[in-house]
Amino acid sequence: MTPAPSGPNIAYIGLGSNVGERADHLRAAVAALAAEADITVTAVSGVLETMPVGGIEQPPFLNAVVEVETTRSPRALLDACQRIERERGRDRRTGGRWGPRTLDLDILLFGSAIVREPGLTIPHPRLPERRFVLGPLTEIAPKAVHPGLGRSVESLFEALGVECGPEEPCS
Ligand code: ATP
Ligand code: MG
Ligand code: MG
Repeated sequence: MTPAPSGPNIAYIGLGSNVGERADHLRAAVAALAAEADITVTAVSGVLETMPVGGIEQPPFLNAVVEVETTRSPRALLDACQRIERERGRDRRTGGRWGPRTLDLDILLFGSAIVREPGLTIPHPRLPERRFVLGPLTEIAPKAVHPGLGRSVESLFEALGVECGPEEPCS
């Protein structure tokens, strides 16, 4: 494990919502993070609509990524994220791990820290495979480095290749 350096760190948080007033949930999350002591929101990506991944039939998501500067520890940042999720009606007893939710806040990167503790893994373990996270993250922080892989966010996003679909047939 590589501890987070003391002093301010730049962290990236992925936001997702697919229940209720999705855009309101995302806006409220940004406002709630900004209202926290010791957390400054320094950039916010655009919002994109994405189809759910993971095989559960559920409504489309709105996703975004925010950049924060914080003197908190990774664990204290997670605590704030989980409290904000609950304030927007997130109920972990329903929906299951990848099921529908009013609000999901995931810590993607925390400076150059590598954290593997019960209930907290940073960088987020599924970051390299997720277009819906790497897209907005590349928009605001293309040069941010994934400390475990030693690669920039934009190179991870490019490595996923072009998404195939109706307009871009799968090869
Ligand atoms: P995924 O992690 O695949 O996006 P999820 O966001 O739906 O799934 P949650 O139900 O929100 O998963 O969280 C499950 C657990 O993940 C939480 O209890 C939390 O402690 C843990 N967790 C581990 N690492 C992180 C992280 N980097 N950010 C947020 N939660 C994390
Ligand atoms: Mg998540
Ligand atoms: Mg989560």
